Amino acid sequence: MKNIGNIGVLTSGGDSPGMNAAIRAVVRTGIYLGCRVFGIHRGYQGMIEGDITELKSTDVSNIISRGGTILKTARSKDFMTLQGMEAAYRQLLKHDIDALVIIGGDGSFRGAVAFFEKYLIPAVGIPGTIDKDLVGTDFTIGFDTAVNTAMEAIDKIKDTAEAHDRLFLVEVMGRDAGYIALNSGIACGAEDILIPEEETRMDEVLERIAGDERRKKEVHIIVVAEGDDSSGIEAVAKAVSERFPAKDIRSCVLGHIQRGGAPSSADRVLASRLGYAAVNGLAEGKSQVMAGIVNGNVVFTPFKNVIKSRMPVQQDMLNMIKVLSI
Ligand code: ATP
Repeated sequence: MKNIGNIGVLTSGGDSPGMNAAIRAVVRTGIYLGCRVFGIHRGYQGMIEGDITELKSTDVSNIISRGGTILKTARSKDFMTLQGMEAAYRQLLKHDIDALVIIGGDGSFRGAVAFFEKYLIPAVGIPGTIDKDLVGTDFTIGFDTAVNTAMEAIDKIKDTAEAHDRLFLVEVMGRDAGYIALNSGIACGAEDILIPEEETRMDEVLERIAGDERRKKEVHIIVVAEGDDSSGIEAVAKAVSERFPAKDIRSCVLGHIQRGGAPSSADRVLASRLGYAAVNGLAEGKSQVMAGIVNGNVVFTPFKNVIKSRMPVQQDMLNMIKVLSI
């Protein structure tokens, strides 16, 4: 075991349910290994401004079940400048922090790579993002909770859609990734799912609705990821109403409710495993890697590989939707 002294932990980028469980695991594993652990508030911006406090074991009591992040999170333009990074480095020196655990998405790991190249502070990452678009892990912290939140909302929409024979368009989060749309759509039995990873052909979408009309299938739920290339659910709604003027069409944007709420058991366990693994990884001398779970086992993937590519969607899932919605 290498000797690590003081660890700094931060949450960065978009928040995701389960980040608190990860912070708790990092703090308690660090203390167990004889380290002092410091919480860096508001991501890299708080690192620049020295918004740093020591976390004791009791400071993370009762947070495993809470959504959001007790450390708060931020996007920091200043950290992308040399002066910002220099200021952040000086703050780490001031607090004697000699290793970092970064909980966030690929942007946060890009920041970690740039920082390490200049200042050689070892860092291990934990995938904290509702998007599940990172390579090197089968799941990211927050994804399961976000999908369940979207699923529960779509189930409710489906009830009311059925009562009125309506066609509903539901927008879920995912600017660049369609995993929330794909998984919540499959879980709710959606008729169609539009995601950024696959070109949306409006003529095909309309043809599928026409097929449902012919079969007298009155309820039609279309789940749309916010980053889909169809120019948003209002544009889809317009195209559908032009082709089916008699159809009662409604749209609903689920928005930020998908980020909040108590993390699911899967996210709490994932966050605990990865927080524990990240600190043990640092103690073993690992750096510039992200801790992830692949096939049930903890694996460490270099940041450079994580930020180089995106997790592709599984084609068999896309094919399956068309079969299961007939
Ligand atoms: P999410 O997936 O939820 O959006 P993320 O970690 O990808 O999370 P970003 O906003 O992309 O979120 O990145 C978080 C922060 O990381 C940025 O605000 C910035 O401070 C830092 N960062 C990103 N890229 C770089 C870079 N090339 N150099 C320095 N810092 C960076």
